[in-house]
Amino acid sequence: MRVTVFGIGYVGLVQAAVLAQVGHTVVCVDVDEKKVDDLKSGIIPIYEPGLTALVQENYEQGRLEFTTDAKRGIEHGELQFIAVGTPPDENGSADLQYVLSVATTIATHMDSYKVIVNKSTVPVGTADKVKATVTAVLAERGLQAKFDVVSNPEFLKEGAAVADCSKPDRIVVGTDNTEVQELFRELYAPFNRNHDKLIFMDVRSSELTKYAANCMLATKISFMNEMANLAERLGADIENVRKGIGSDPRIGYHFIYPGAGYGGSCFPKDVQALIRTSQEIGYQPEILEAVENVNMRQKNKLFENIVKHFGNDLSGKQFAVWGLSFKPNTDDMREASSRVLMQSLWAAGAKVKAYDPEAMNECQRIFGDRDDLMLMGTKEACLKGSDALVICTEWNQFRAPDFDVLSESLNHPVIVDGRNLFAPEIMNRRGFTYYAIGRGDSV
Ligand code: NAD
Repeated sequence: MRVTVFGIGYVGLVQAAVLAQVGHTVVCVDVDEKKVDDLKSGIIPIYEPGLTALVQENYEQGRLEFTTDAKRGIEHGELQFIAVGTPPDENGSADLQYVLSVATTIATHMDSYKVIVNKSTVPVGTADKVKATVTAVLAERGLQAKFDVVSNPEFLKEGAAVADCSKPDRIVVGTDNTEVQELFRELYAPFNRNHDKLIFMDVRSSELTKYAANCMLATKISFMNEMANLAERLGADIENVRKGIGSDPRIGYHFIYPGAGYGGSCFPKDVQALIRTSQEIGYQPEILEAVENVNMRQKNKLFENIVKHFGNDLSGKQFAVWGLSFKPNTDDMREASSRVLMQSLWAAGAKVKAYDPEAMNECQRIFGDRDDLMLMGTKEACLKGSDALVICTEWNQFRAPDFDVLSESLNHPVIVDGRNLFAPEIMNRRGFTYYAIGRGDSV
């Protein structure tokens, strides 16, 4: 099938590449000229396992095209995917300007039937706004062209985006039009062989499904962080509690790790956006507000543990930071806990030596050159002269470090771990002062 994707970000690029891989021809349109030029030269703008080879192969074989020419994209696909950003606006609502701008562009150039597909995460009612925008532009053009607006939210996880898109758990499609349903059956047939993963529903339920999924996951994290804070104060070990509750199949082991708070481009903004949606219709979303508050508090946890150990004045101190991305296997630092930590350390007069396997360029792009941030080539290089090691992201590379090198290199054998990578009693035996999350006070 012929597909067009607007927005070549984490969602658009991965979705386009995966669709091209099964034989669809996909034209990707973006307003970012550099991104388009880079992709044409084989440079992939984001880090996702397996993505580079997939994009290059399909580009070389002509099933994937990159352009800034919206008209070309609109001519190409009967299906027009919108996968642009929906960042929070100043009051936390999802900013729809990019989505509606693409809708306007599609309506400006279309001259035959199109299915406009919202893949971006958008508040309930957005399909109606897209429909109204397209209708208005077509009316201005005096054109009677038919179109449908469909909600097809994306559930991929950054860090496993190619795998998630290639083998989705479910494919939610919001449309009441049975002919459009058939188009989607055909589009996704290659991903739907083992059992039927397509879930058709009305548009508004589909739009809400995406928010409900992310808010449920964020709730699990904040709930566990609340339990971790209680465990710490009650002399319990959250890791035992986690295993104890996870063994109940109604709870399960997935996604119940305590830590230094959730980040990324989705959970924080989607929880906030659903809170704003609720408020706009006069409903107070008490659970969602608590989820957000607990998360904001939790993001300070690493800094609080540092202050507990070193006191408030950190001038002259230096900290080794392992992990900058908001989670492993991605270079994405949007809303990452590492950012909150580093800002607090700098405000207290400390310096940072940081390492991340993939997010170094992103960190440099965000913070630029500054005296109190040194980006190091290896995780070991951060340790020399540092007063403690702080772990923000649970990359595999950090799970079994050489503890002798750690204690020889650090000024003090202090580890502040935001991801509970090590056993407190072993750290104790090795002579470290070890601050974890919800595992009792420092040992
Ligand atoms: P992103 O910021 O990585 O990419 C968005 C792209 O859209 C950018 O390349 C930008 O240049 C482009 N763009 C902006 N305006 C445009 C226009 N008018 N025409 C063409 N291109 C335009 O965003 P993302 O992380 O891929 O997220 C996209 C959407 O998908 C968001 O709504 C997000 O909430 C949702 N989502 C993201 C994830 C994720 O893990 N990143 C997962 C599921 C859903």
